[in-house]
Amino acid sequence: MKQERLRREIVATARRMNALGINQGSSGNIGVRVDGGLLVTPSGVDYEAMKPADIVAMDLAGEWSVETAGLRPSSEWRIHRDILTARDEIGAVVHSHPTYGTALACQGKGIPAFHYMVAIAGGDSIRCSKYKTFGTEELSREALKALRHRKACLLAHHGMIACGADLAEALKIAVEVETLARQFWHVLLLGKPKLLSKTEMNKVLEKFAAGYGYASGPEEAVG
Ligand code: 13P
Ligand code: ZN
Repeated sequence: MKQERLRREIVATARRMNALGINQGSSGNIGVRVDGGLLVTPSGVDYEAMKPADIVAMDLAGEWSVETAGLRPSSEWRIHRDILTARDEIGAVVHSHPTYGTALACQGKGIPAFHYMVAIAGGDSIRCSKYKTFGTEELSREALKALRHRKACLLAHHGMIACGADLAEALKIAVEVETLARQFWHVLLLGKPKLLSKTEMNKVLEKFAAGYGYASGPEEAVG
């Protein structure tokens, strides 16, 4: 029963990603933790045509259910499985190809502390991972590294990942990261960006930890 509701929520969130302008077409994918594994969007299926029954149930070993015969899990199922395995506090993962975040990532740029809201991802920067081919174990490994102590990262020459305790939080962070990417793109047009200091960002992170925003708390900066 709970899985039925979650399947409907996943389809609605996938459509929301496109409606909110943080993704287009059938790019991107979504994974959500369930008992014993995860639910993940099917590969290459148009979100408008996607039905709750098309969402693929997988176990943590990467085996998927025969009930969804004909549909394969997202090519990025490893990213979803690996994040949910490594990070107990995360219940949902959203991956998309938003215009500004992806533009920065295509130049290998993450998002530094040009604005205090960078703290929404849990630290004083949003990193950009190294480039690896889509759908590979190597990409999943690089994504996990870029997500260390963070709830979001960019993927070089590819897109963005946002994570949350649930789908609502993951989507909210994804929208905020794309907003920051758009703002940072404009800041870059004005010249060398002026950044907030580590001391100031630590203050901001403390305020987030005390109940503002969606970050789980200040973490030691890891570069
Ligand atoms: P899937 O349709 O296989 O989920 O692929 C979309 C994508 O964004 C790959 O990185
Ligand atoms: Zn992708």
